[in-house]
Amino acid sequence: MPELPEMENYKRQLWQLIGNKSIRSIEVDREKSINVPVLAFQQALLQERILFIERRAKHLLFHLSSGKVLLLHLMLGGLMYYGTKQDKPNRSIQVTLSYGTDELYFIGLRLGYLHLLTHAQASKALSDLGPEPFSPAFTLELFSKLANNKRGMIKSALIDQSFISGIGNCYADEICFRAELHPASKWTELNADDIARLYDAIRTVLQEATDLGGYMELPLFEEDQLTGGYNDHCKVYDQEDKPCFRCGNPIIKEMIASRKTFYCGHCQSSTQEG
Ligand SMILES: [Zn+2]
Repeated sequence: MPELPEMENYKRQLWQLIGNKSIRSIEVDREKSINVPVLAFQQALLQERILFIERRAKHLLFHLSSGKVLLLHLMLGGLMYYGTKQDKPNRSIQVTLSYGTDELYFIGLRLGYLHLLTHAQASKALSDLGPEPFSPAFTLELFSKLANNKRGMIKSALIDQSFISGIGNCYADEICFRAELHPASKWTELNADDIARLYDAIRTVLQEATDLGGYMELPLFEEDQLTGGYNDHCKVYDQEDKPCFRCGNPIIKEMIASRKTFYCGHCQSSTQEG
């Protein structure tokens, strides 16, 4: 599932492609992906321009010239492509926004959605989200406070969007690896130093992954050299049995917090074992 770096990369690159351009036509191939009747959706978007694109957690918000917002969540398997009818990927497309010859395709929205909302509705839909890792408000002080009130395993909290925004299964494992903490470590057993390392790891891993274009499997447009640049940079995620980047011991795959989890059993200390 696309996480913060993937969506941030989409946001930055999409703006270069569609910012301020008028939507010429709208095609909906899966009504369940939108929240209003197809005709109303088309009427609301026709000739609209996207004034700016905002990312919140794993969502993108397309702010329209009408004052309305398109709220996108790709969920599992969703992606986007911008190009012509000839070079679009051979995948199931649910919604197409046409800008003339070039079109923006929303692909694989099986569980994902593209909802037309007012500002108030969009704010309400996002009101339960925790702090953004790159927000100036997300300081070590704030994170320590949140961490000190937390019970359970660090992995479960890292992927909990109400605790902190934008982290999913892949980056949670990468963050734990960087912080040298076992993903099943309990919050109550972390000391101030562990929490500071975890805080740094959250910001560093997400920043690096964003700068490298995240891990999406497809480019966003034909000449796109950035998207997916992080694919070969995962140190633990999907690296079962490969040697640990730090100590050479094999990476372990295990179900933790009901999620497929990857870690090094040697250099990610488990607080449970002291
Ligand atoms: Zn290791």
